[in-house]
Amino acid sequence: MDFTPSRLVLARKRRGLTKKELATRAGLSVRILTSYEAGEKVPSLLSLRKIAQVLAFPIGFFSGRDLEEPPVWGASFRALSRLPAHKRDQALGAGALALAIDDWIAERFDRPDVSIPRLRGVDPETAALALRTEWGVGERPVKNMVKMLELHGVRVFSLAEEYAEVNAFSFWRSETPYVFLNTMKTAEKSRMDAAHELGHLVLHWGHETPRGRVYEQEAETFASTFLMPRGSVLANAPRGASLDQIIHLKLTWKVSAAALAHRMHGLGLLTEWQYRQIFISLAQRGFSKSEPEEMPREVSEVLPRVLAVMRGEGVTPAAIAADLSIPREEFDQLVFGLVMTQVAGGGEQSTPPRAPQLTLVTGASANAPTRPSGPARNAPRR
Ligand SMILES: [Zn+2]
Repeated sequence: MDFTPSRLVLARKRRGLTKKELATRAGLSVRILTSYEAGEKVPSLLSLRKIAQVLAFPIGFFSGRDLEEPPVWGASFRALSRLPAHKRDQALGAGALALAIDDWIAERFDRPDVSIPRLRGVDPETAALALRTEWGVGERPVKNMVKMLELHGVRVFSLAEEYAEVNAFSFWRSETPYVFLNTMKTAEKSRMDAAHELGHLVLHWGHETPRGRVYEQEAETFASTFLMPRGSVLANAPRGASLDQIIHLKLTWKVSAAALAHRMHGLGLLTEWQYRQIFISLAQRGFSKSEPEEMPREVSEVLPRVLAVMRGEGVTPAAIAADLSIPREEFDQLVFGLVMTQVAGGGEQSTPPRAPQLTLVTGASANAPTRPSGPARNAPRR
């Protein structure tokens, strides 16, 4: 059968295995596995079955076009220095699978056009406010960060990486922006991550170097300003607020108590001493890692619509995963685990007043077979 070496490398890295570990588990020598990955030898069907079994990938995954992987330099990981390379590769591997899913969707659906300005060289606070103005939000709290990203053409996928250093990452793939959010974090942190990644997309596009501390700080400032504009916080948050007041106030901007306290401190609404007391109180109440009054998690609104339309055409999520030869649990994790909650006809989730527009590509049957390769369709929306 047809064999694609890069897919073997991708699946192995996705599982966080070294060549030696995979070779041992599959009963192969490292030398022979290396030759498979280098494309020097083609595994026998028996060997490939064993490899597929160890990696828990469908055997069909190991053939077909090379999958595009997110650029290492473009993906921003906070604390990159503390993130081991294999953990980074594991997360990027999930990104590659998501890009395959995204191409599959792009062949069948038109999604909102990309309207993310690229403001390189602008200071983060100015950029955040400029973007709010451009998107017509003014100083109002952002209702749903994921929905807002999708409305402006960002493709948002979810990660379920247990490794804490994998917060989120984002990158431009040609003219299309992607954001990956780790759903293993609290809903508030994930929302802040979405704003942080938006900051990278706006401020740091086209930087083909690993992102360093300065960029991370800029994205942090952008996120904090974007979710909690100065004027809005100054008008609504009292000076010297208690933790209970902050827990109540944070619901306005849908941020963590810690993030609001940090912003208030930055705006001079909390003294250094008061700011520290807030964190001591949070820890005393057991909220070092968790969040008081955690908000509902923000999830994609585009992906469940895609799944619902496909279901209407008789194509189940399992069939999509099978068409792409992606493990089913990988598919579910990337689409915010929405597979189980969404019924045909979309009865379980209320329809938002202004949802990201989604149209089936005209003239194309939604369940047309996947083209093995070729450019993603980006037909303009009407
Ligand atoms: Zn970052």
